[in-house]
Amino acid sequence: MNIVVCVKQVPNTNEIKINPETGTLIREGVESILNHDDANALEQALQIKDTQPDTKVTVITMGPPQAKEMLQECIAMGADEAILLSDRALGGSDTWATSNALAAGIKKIGEYDLIFAGRQAIDGDTAQVGPQIAEKLGVPQVTYVKEFKLEADEILVKRALEDGYELLKLRPPCVLTAIKELNTPRYMSIRGILKGAKADIRVWSAEDIGVDQDTVGLKASPTNVFRSFTPKPKGKGVTVAGDTAKELAENLIKGLKEKHII
Ligand SMILES: Cc1cc2nc3c(=O)[nH]c(=O)nc-3n(C[C@H](O)[C@H](O)[C@H](O)COP(=O)(O)OP(=O)(O)OC[C@H]3O[C@@H](n4cnc5c(N)ncnc54)[C@H](O)[C@@H]3O)c2cc1C
Repeated sequence: MNIVVCVKQVPNTNEIKINPETGTLIREGVESILNHDDANALEQALQIKDTQPDTKVTVITMGPPQAKEMLQECIAMGADEAILLSDRALGGSDTWATSNALAAGIKKIGEYDLIFAGRQAIDGDTAQVGPQIAEKLGVPQVTYVKEFKLEADEILVKRALEDGYELLKLRPPCVLTAIKELNTPRYMSIRGILKGAKADIRVWSAEDIGVDQDTVGLKASPTNVFRSFTPKPKGKGVTVAGDTAKELAENLIKGLKEKHII
């Protein structure tokens, strides 16, 4: 089985700071990590490989040259091959342009049975890229996958809903987007780390993947983020005093009446 996993290098959000004057992310000194949901996507691919040793797991990312480090980590976890789509022509791509490039990269990889992606990237946060790749490759998709089972030539998945789940059955090739409930990603092994450090990570340009250059990059992107900012912290709030539930409720109602809210 051939599995492709789309992985994205993202800033560690706990440390994200925004320059209040320019509204841009301050990236200096911010650690870059493998996007959380993508680690779950990779783990699922590796679990298939654990039970079907003839499985090949290829990770693909589009990003700057530094994304190679994340790809090395993916190999250290157990991926077989890694591809980096990196080219000035691809820079500034929005989700539509990103999925054009990734779909073209996946086509160049060749035959695939399963394509895994994370549900959502913690920086861009749109959850659009996985479904868009499926559309562009013309294959079925299931998003929000929380359970996965291979049964002969069929796949059984549990798809998370807000108030329950759906059970779906489908056949490869297809795209599945993973959420954190799917599994617990494994750690890199020592052997894997050595393999990752020596891995030959292929870097493909826009020309290499044969993508129409009018469909990638900043200029081709139909959407733009004009400004991003950190909301100012709100006031510290009001604590309602009272010794009993009744007293608390009465004081709350009194406070709301005083403010003409009720
Ligand atoms: C400061 C800033 C400015 C931005 N400006 C714009 C803008 O103007 N217009 C716009 O539409 N977007 C913009 N983005 C979003 C950026 O283009 C997206 O990161 C990119 O298009 C992917 O979208 P996403 O991060 O929302 O991914 P999602 O759709 O949330 O990602 C879902 C999954 O798709 C896969 N995936 C996503 N991106 C990649 C990748 N590069 N390589 C491999 N797999 C991937 C991963 O598996 C991921 O878990 C901006 C983001 C930032 C942080």
